[in-house]
Amino acid sequence: MMDLTIPKYKVLRDDGDCIRCGVCVRQCSYGVHEMDEDLNKVIAHSKECVNCQRCVVMCPTDALTIIRNPQSDPESVVYNNEVISDIAKQCQTGGVLLAGSGNPKPYPIIWDHMLLNASQVTNPSIDPLREPMETRVILGGKPGNIKIDEANHAIKTPMKPLRTIKLPIMFSAMSFGAVSLNVQKSLAMAAEELGTFWNTGEGGLHKDLVKYKDNTIVQVASGRFGVDTEYLNNGSIIEIKIGQGAKPGIGGHLPGEKINAEVSITRMIPEGTDAISPAPHHDIYSIEDLRQLIYSLKEATNYTKPVAVKIAAVHNCAAIASGIARAGADIIAVDGFRGGTGAAPIAIRNNVGIPIEYALAAIDNRLHQEGLRSSVSLIASGPIRNSADVVKAIALGADAVYIGTAALVAIGCHLCQSCNTGKCNWGIATQRPDLVKRLNPELMSERLVNLMHGWSHEIQEMLGGMGINSLDSLRGNRLMLRGIGLNDRELNILGIKAAGE
Ligand code: SF4
Ligand code: SF4
Repeated sequence: MMDLTIPKYKVLRDDGDCIRCGVCVRQCSYGVHEMDEDLNKVIAHSKECVNCQRCVVMCPTDALTIIRNPQSDPESVVYNNEVISDIAKQCQTGGVLLAGSGNPKPYPIIWDHMLLNASQVTNPSIDPLREPMETRVILGGKPGNIKIDEANHAIKTPMKPLRTIKLPIMFSAMSFGAVSLNVQKSLAMAAEELGTFWNTGEGGLHKDLVKYKDNTIVQVASGRFGVDTEYLNNGSIIEIKIGQGAKPGIGGHLPGEKINAEVSITRMIPEGTDAISPAPHHDIYSIEDLRQLIYSLKEATNYTKPVAVKIAAVHNCAAIASGIARAGADIIAVDGFRGGTGAAPIAIRNNVGIPIEYALAAIDNRLHQEGLRSSVSLIASGPIRNSADVVKAIALGADAVYIGTAALVAIGCHLCQSCNTGKCNWGIATQRPDLVKRLNPELMSERLVNLMHGWSHEIQEMLGGMGINSLDSLRGNRLMLRGIGLNDRELNILGIKAAGE
């Protein structure tokens, strides 16, 4: 069928700088660059370009520039390039439009409308270089009060299984199949070194990663891929995935071509078959059903592991979180509408769900009002982009955060949103061996560790600036936040004052 789309990007090559080395031809999995022997030059097929920037980064002479094609943007702001090109694509395929990565729409980013406090004269600030700063977080349900056996110096109150992380940041769920094994290796190695957790996602646990079990969260999703007792026992925390921010209310679909031999063994499904995750868990239609699954998983692991439940941030997430806490979960993870994904229908990714900032504030409020807050830990994600977002999330009520897209950016992702194609030139969202081997897990885990060390220093600086020496004192401390450019209703939902108040 005739293709009426205009190239979204324009690949510009400075022929004076180009040495015709062919690096860009070999590096691009989308076939953008072609060596034309007759013309003795490299030519570009701009229409194929997804703007992943691999060729720009790898070109030894900096001869390449990729720009947004000015002709692809019409005069109309209503029917802009995205709208027109989506219509043009659907005219050709008749199918659902898919994209990877997170919602790119210019909705307000509420993190950027909140400012942090700092001490001045009274309650003096603390210098984290000279004084101890507590950044550890204990995850899991804690009892409202504790009875002590003074004679034996022991706690009499029965305690639920708890887990300690050295910094309030974990790596969020990214399944083997959606991302390459080298991505998971990078995350697992970094999590071990940092004293935190990485998350298998819904794709089972590859045998090479079992050695990282003490730093692994194993996920149980609606497809139950790779789930058996051994898998559950190879996790330190078990997470039931009900929803994710990028596609609330719908399931997932990993096409058969991504199910190679390794993915097939890990997911426990036949090679080459589509991995379909149903929208609901077929055994969960109520909070009581969820409770049964939570306790089945606890039972299967002899009540030794915290069980988390992950949901997408939606309108009534506060009530849902209350139900999850009452159902016996130890941790609730909430993923905002800007959370990333390997593939989601564009219409869902860009239009369904709510910002994590509002969801987090509403859930923390509700759990406090109902006396449930200490019975669960609260994890926020979707998106957490930097150390300031982490501090603001904790001040809004989170115990810790998950990062996904930020971690992928650290290991090479350039946010081209083409994860669904399986051709990721950075070796991340692909199973193609020639692309996967571009990603070196040792080097990438080092980059992740560096990033987390940088954030950790900044978090300590921000805490010290507020005169606070532990994350425990910041959690839910909304007096440390002020809103800027938010209306009264939004301030009310967030439970914070306006800047100047
Ligand atoms: S990588 Fe750079 S120098 Fe090499 S062929 Fe491509 S544009 Fe030319
Ligand atoms: S993971 Fe790869 S395909 Fe996905 S957005 Fe990042 S660079 Fe693009």
